[in-house]
Amino acid sequence: VKFVYDFTEGNKDLKDLLGGKGANLAEMTNLGLPVPPGFTITTEACKVYLDSGEEPAALRDEVSAHLDALERRMGKKLGQADDPLLVSVRSGAKFSMPGMMDTVLNIGLSDRSVQGLAKQAGDERFAWDSYRRLIQMFGKTVLGVDGDLFEEALEKAKEAKKVAVDTELEAADLKKLVTRFKKIVKTEAGRDFPQDPREQMDLAIKAVFDSWNGDRAKLYRRQERIPHDLGTAVNVCSMVFGNLGPDSGTGVAFTRDPASGHQGVYGDYLQNAQGEDVVAGIRNTVPLAELERIDKKSYDQLMQIMETLENHYKDLCDIEFTIERGQLWMLQTRVGKRTAGAAFRIATQLVDQGLIDEAEALQRVNGAQLAQLMFPRFDDSAKVEQVGRGIAASPGAAVGKAVFDSYTAVKWSRSGEKVILIRRETNPDDLDGMIAAEGILTSRGGKTSHAAVVARGMGKTCVCGAEELEVDTKRRRMTVPGGHVVEEGDLISIDGSSGKVYLGEVPVVPSPVVEYFEGRMHAGADDADELVEAVHRIMAFADRKRRLRVRANADNAEDALRARRFGAQGIGLCRTEHMFLGDRRELVERLILADTQAEREESLKELLPLQKQDFVELFEAMDGLPVTVRLLDPPLHEFLPDITELSVRVALAESRQEPHENELRLLQAVHRLHEQNPMLGLRGVRLGLVIPGLFTMQVRAIAEAAADRKAAKGDPRAEIMIPLVGTVQELEIVREEADRVIAEVEAARGTELKLAIGTMIELPRAALTAGQIAEAAEFFSFGTNDLTQTVWGFSRDDVEASFFTAYLEKGIFGVSPFETIDRDGVGSLVQAAAKAGRATRPDLKLGVCGEHGGDPESVHFFHEVGLDYVSCSPFRIPVARLEAGRAAS
Ligand code: ADP
Ligand code: MG
Ligand code: MG
Repeated sequence: VKFVYDFTEGNKDLKDLLGGKGANLAEMTNLGLPVPPGFTITTEACKVYLDSGEEPAALRDEVSAHLDALERRMGKKLGQADDPLLVSVRSGAKFSMPGMMDTVLNIGLSDRSVQGLAKQAGDERFAWDSYRRLIQMFGKTVLGVDGDLFEEALEKAKEAKKVAVDTELEAADLKKLVTRFKKIVKTEAGRDFPQDPREQMDLAIKAVFDSWNGDRAKLYRRQERIPHDLGTAVNVCSMVFGNLGPDSGTGVAFTRDPASGHQGVYGDYLQNAQGEDVVAGIRNTVPLAELERIDKKSYDQLMQIMETLENHYKDLCDIEFTIERGQLWMLQTRVGKRTAGAAFRIATQLVDQGLIDEAEALQRVNGAQLAQLMFPRFDDSAKVEQVGRGIAASPGAAVGKAVFDSYTAVKWSRSGEKVILIRRETNPDDLDGMIAAEGILTSRGGKTSHAAVVARGMGKTCVCGAEELEVDTKRRRMTVPGGHVVEEGDLISIDGSSGKVYLGEVPVVPSPVVEYFEGRMHAGADDADELVEAVHRIMAFADRKRRLRVRANADNAEDALRARRFGAQGIGLCRTEHMFLGDRRELVERLILADTQAEREESLKELLPLQKQDFVELFEAMDGLPVTVRLLDPPLHEFLPDITELSVRVALAESRQEPHENELRLLQAVHRLHEQNPMLGLRGVRLGLVIPGLFTMQVRAIAEAAADRKAAKGDPRAEIMIPLVGTVQELEIVREEADRVIAEVEAARGTELKLAIGTMIELPRAALTAGQIAEAAEFFSFGTNDLTQTVWGFSRDDVEASFFTAYLEKGIFGVSPFETIDRDGVGSLVQAAAKAGRATRPDLKLGVCGEHGGDPESVHFFHEVGLDYVSCSPFRIPVARLEAGRAAS
């Protein structure tokens, strides 16, 4: 294998091997842009080193050969005394990663070659400045010396000279500083600063390799779910100097504004400076536009290069450049990071410029960004007092009164208060409080902490790991930097999209994107919001491309109408259980307690018109579109009072000698219905088979509602869905009865209803016998929540709060299987069941109605396995539409 690539040998598609920086340096080199020559040591070499603890045997020779070639090309040798070649050693993994080793510049300088450099450049000050920088960077990053020691020494030198900035130090001052720096190295690192240039280079290369496994790098990879085995590349690049006087300098730039996407001149420039000086903020930079005045030739060339890069990468790029005595050099480029809003705008702008097509535009945005744009956010124009910043763990803008324990959170929220739950870190005991709170703030823990995982699962705003906040749960207070104390009940605001924490109530504004989906803001108007315009166009691209249809999980007319506005093409899951709650509870209690068939029929008869009215409204809201109604699914005890509460009531009544016959009967029923594992108990189709008349009543309500709608010239398209079927026999029995009822209603109303009957596939057995089940089903809807639960044997109500954090930390899975479909396990069952079902019944309609229907990655999977539609909560519909479009392009 080859471990070293010259910049002329690589290209931008070799990021795995050359890292992002190396691949793009090669790409620029091959585009003919002015890149200082150099070479890249591959990630493969790094991997060998990390695995075995030793550099691959061939590496040293390969590096020597490339260094030779570089020296010949530059006409000087690394560290040569009279005219030294200097290089930078730069880390560069596939993904840019904070925590990786900082770059070391000016490698090759020594006590001797610094003199040569001074002579060659005709500038003694410059040479000693470069040398002191080398010792400083090398000491800090390669030898592990505390960087503050160098900073302090530099400060002292400036003080002694009574100057404010480093450029005012003269050669003699810098010479003294070098002596001081070398002493610091000797004391702190226990060795002399190496004078041999090759040794400098080799040590720096090894330090880059080692930094891959530094604590900060590892932590970052865990948080960002970057695999630990990628390794980093190392770039060795010949030096160019921005610190050679006022006609030199260094800068950073974007080819367009990463916040808005607008084209223009965005960047900063710093005269007479090297490397990090621009971002380190040691002197004031000037806006890039000023460069036109300072050095018109370089400025024009830079603009030209930026255009070349945009046309080549067909995207926003960010760049680093240096000007050495009027000569421009490119030191880095990459496709730049951008905000979610800018991603949408840039994608459409690039389409308009003819650089990319619609399909490519869809690849430039994603559902997570769209979801982010749909959260309400804090008003930008508001006056705020930021007091801390943590990890943006779950997006949204939340305002509420500070509470420091779950109990208070629940109590206050019951009395109508909005609260923010503040904890050092959360654990499963905090769950009630987390549910009650508007948002969650912790001072410890990262993106996979309990608070973060649970909050994301609940779609609740969360900022975690805000370390500078001192949370004192005992005294119910939090101290913020500067000493201000937030007491229980004080208002605070947290931004789960930026991680920022504010004192007081920051005004929240609705997302313009939601206003647009809701029809309250329009695209195409003169004053239309640019973002809305872009989202509108991207959604149109997605709708044109996608094959998957998108339906909503909605139980009532209001949700259905909103879903329609958001682009739903029907309802994939209408749960009927809510129709049994509220003031209907009493009827349901009577149904459950009924001793005789007559009593039971009595309560069913009363429920029928109520259910029917629900369906009439729903079918009207979704007129002309399919509505899949799921017959009753949850275990019956969910409709009865809580067992403890009821026991107390009975005991109280007994002791007071009050009548309590009803309570007692209820209590007996609760005991009778009590199950150890209700989720594996009497629920779904089993209810229909065990409680005579229940499903019959529901089917009748659906059929009559459809008949009413037809009579009103509507176009109802109801589908009846039987939950939790494990074997075709269950379905056949329920189906026979349903067909009979439908026929009865059709005859009575003199109309044909065309009601489809199908089933959920949510048990492994159903998936495994899908071929048989399809005999009795006109459609399948994969209930991937229950299917995940039953395939893994995880209780979804418990695991997220108990051991998932540990599983995520151990990397057993990168993301909860309840959030993103487990392709290998649950996914392969879905795929096999779809295939078997279609083999039996080629026109079998296939959909999915679990939470996964609105999850970006899962949507791609459902597209790949050929489902007809996904169904998700109304708010997720735009995300599903977009991802379905991306999957198809
Ligand atoms: P980072 O990934 O932190 O940006 P870089 O390797 O890009 O690290 O380098 C840090 C700084 O040093 C940047 O400003 C870069 O432009 C500058 N730099 C790197 N190599 C050279 C070089 N050969 N000549 C001049 N400046 C360089
Ligand atoms: Mg850089
Ligand atoms: Mg289910």
